[in-house]
Amino acid sequence: MKIAVIGAGSAGLAALRQCTSGTYNTQVVCYEKTDQVGGTWVYREETGLDRYGLPIHTSMYKNLRTNLPKEVMGYPDYPVSDTPESYLTRTQILNFLNSYCDHFNLRQHIRFLHNVELVEPSTGDRKWEVKVKDLTRNTISVETFDAVMVCNGHYFEPSMPDLKGQMVFKGEQLHSHNYRVPDIFVDKAVVVLGAGPSGMDLALDISRKAKRVYLSHHLKDPIGTVFPDNVVQKPDVKELTENGAVFKDGTNEHVDVIFYCTGYKYSFPFLSEKCGVRVDSNMVTPLWKHLVSIENPTLALVGLPFYVCAFSMFDLQVRFVLQYWSGKRDFPSKADMLREEAEELEKRKKEGLRRKHFHMMGFKQGDYYNDLANTAGITPLPPVLTKLHNESSMQFLDNLVHYRETRYKIIDDYNFIQL
Ligand code: FAD
Repeated sequence: MKIAVIGAGSAGLAALRQCTSGTYNTQVVCYEKTDQVGGTWVYREETGLDRYGLPIHTSMYKNLRTNLPKEVMGYPDYPVSDTPESYLTRTQILNFLNSYCDHFNLRQHIRFLHNVELVEPSTGDRKWEVKVKDLTRNTISVETFDAVMVCNGHYFEPSMPDLKGQMVFKGEQLHSHNYRVPDIFVDKAVVVLGAGPSGMDLALDISRKAKRVYLSHHLKDPIGTVFPDNVVQKPDVKELTENGAVFKDGTNEHVDVIFYCTGYKYSFPFLSEKCGVRVDSNMVTPLWKHLVSIENPTLALVGLPFYVCAFSMFDLQVRFVLQYWSGKRDFPSKADMLREEAEELEKRKKEGLRRKHFHMMGFKQGDYYNDLANTAGITPLPPVLTKLHNESSMQFLDNLVHYRETRYKIIDDYNFIQL
């Protein structure tokens, strides 16, 4: 079976690792549009377009330290090496990904500076045509594959809210995708829009330079953590004026920058309509188990669930898919897969979640991992990953400024200790 992998970030590397493990009879080619592995963990100073006219992919910022301990950030067969601290720098994670890539000899399968422009099912033979641009030679080629794993990430297409007064506001407006260093905020008053993990972390990062930070969010209650003194919580922005923002509680502030930490949209610009995958209010559908295209099950979209132990989950998802593609298991009928997706959507709606939260796992991520492992009959992920992820997420919410000082150690599949 000949498989195309799109992207050599941490998901694409997991795909390559499993496709070349010898367990499955597969040939694999990975296309990566940049000149290195690591995807979003590759820090680039530039924003906007790269030298080939393609949008810069990474959203990484200079001061980033992981928001999860390294103990949950490794792959099942390749943990992050033993450093004294648990929360690592972006460079340590990028080095880790490079070392994973070299340890399993994955680089030889990657075609760097190759941008996938179009993926289409070819007529009649149940195969896939992948149209690729070689960026250095400026040539286009089309290759045929039996299956495609899409590993293009989901933190590169900014989601921007429509705010009244956006055109009137005379200050700067910036999305976190294009944020690199806090120095641009020296002595400025900034509204940070959104208090998800990146909004909270970025409010903290820029508070070191900014004069004042207004962290605007629509959580029912104020966030119960201690922020630096120059960070003030505010409700949603009602509208922007020439020189500031009016908040929903009627207060208004004079500000220099609106900093959108409003998240990202799933985007697969290279999938033709014939692939049968669409994004509906940021839910990618129709998919079996957040992963397999129900219309064309030899197409898999790896890495969509968020608030997860990402690298381990990628490995699990890839092993899941390969069980089916290699013929060890048969896919359920289309009707059954559609029913399962509809039931999950219904369940989530009852829990008060919106479509855009369809792929959110968080505290229940262990159920998803177990479901994948049980359904495909593959080695599960140890429950301690979910436990420690949940513990770290609580610490993040309770103790934003200092939680990264904590150190953990996993002692067995079920337990961890705090050092
Ligand atoms: P990416 O890393 O985005 O890789 C996708 C790859 O696909 C890229 O190399 C890209 O160039 C390539 N590509 C895209 N389109 C094409 C195309 N058409 N043709 C060829 N190649 C293409 N997770 C954690 O676990 N812990 C953290 O602390 C953490 N912090 C984060 C901080 C930030 C600022 C961001 C943005 C994310 C963070 N994450 C964190 C989540 C992180 O995205 C995942 O951990 C993981 O790196 C995602 O890997 P990926 O391979 O799915 O996507």
